[in-house]
Amino acid sequence: MKTWKELLAESIVDYDVLRTRLANLPDLDKKPIKFLVNPYVLSLMDHDDPNCPIRKQFIPMDDEYEESPHEISDELGEESCRIPGTNVIHRYPNRVLFLVSPICGAYCRHCTRKHAVFCKSFKIDREEILRGVEYIKNNKDVQDVLISGGDPLMLDDDDLEFIFKSIRLARPDLQILRVGSRMPVVMPYRLTEELGKLFYKYQITHLNIQVNHPKEITDTFRTHIREFIRNSACLIGNQTVLIRGVNDSVQIMRELCMKLASCSIRPYYVYTMDPAKGNYKWQVSYDRTMEIIEGLRGWISGVAVPTFVVDGIGGLGKMPIQPNYVVKAGNTLMCRNFENKTRIMSFLLSEK
Ligand SMILES: *Cc1c(COP(=O)(O)O)cnc(C)c1O
Repeated sequence: MKTWKELLAESIVDYDVLRTRLANLPDLDKKPIKFLVNPYVLSLMDHDDPNCPIRKQFIPMDDEYEESPHEISDELGEESCRIPGTNVIHRYPNRVLFLVSPICGAYCRHCTRKHAVFCKSFKIDREEILRGVEYIKNNKDVQDVLISGGDPLMLDDDDLEFIFKSIRLARPDLQILRVGSRMPVVMPYRLTEELGKLFYKYQITHLNIQVNHPKEITDTFRTHIREFIRNSACLIGNQTVLIRGVNDSVQIMRELCMKLASCSIRPYYVYTMDPAKGNYKWQVSYDRTMEIIEGLRGWISGVAVPTFVVDGIGGLGKMPIQPNYVVKAGNTLMCRNFENKTRIMSFLLSEK
């Protein structure tokens, strides 16, 4: 059995090589940049179907260079919240994002940080990490550190241990220490027993992953997640990105959310597509998004229903989008259920 690193070393970064492995790949006019398909991700792809939801997420297309006037680089406004000299992004009152790696185990075409990720090789700069830790140490309002990237689980265990340990030592009172990673989905073998124990040792409270389509929930994924939950005692959440042509239907979202819950994974957020450069063709309309949201609540188990968010354009942060189930008109308050049956609930209008 090969290790996750050996498998990653076999990743395909050349479009002509990819053509020898998959049928029906279109000709590209431009030379694709920043693409990497590892052998596990390749194994999830349909050999023939260009509309395969896994292919769409990882294989570059000519039109991804076409931009729309609505798109902007760093659309989340992260740069304005970056603490100088560090990779700490402080947007919300009690928590920070700590970007520790600019590389990933596969590159999503819909990436929101595509302006910042991708390089051939990478070594963490421990001095820079320590500057970030120093900021966290001196800001006691920070009660939650979210380690992300790129993908932090591309780092070796000893680098991760250095990061976890530095943060825990600097702030023994820190309540939440969490990791965001797509590695469990694009390379489940990264979830080794040692990594689980490392998470346990430093009390990583949450691991948030990104599953976008039911096809990503394989037997390999399931078994590695299950073992990892046992070894790490960590809660696993999922952050899906709503992608046109990949998962923008009620039926796919229901299946995805229920399958996640069946793996003890909590569907946490569904993000609408960020208007990063080249992303316009992935965007799902507001009406369709609402139809999907309303197709979940009440129809599938409550533990499988995620919150849909628009991540703050111009750095406003995440904003929930939610259909209205309550209508108030004067002294009448109507509530509607998932089947559109309504009922007067005016007793909720006052406390006397
Ligand atoms: C998403 C995000 C967080 C974490 O937000 P939660 O809603 O607590 O999961 C923190 N900082 C930044 C900059 C983020 O984008």
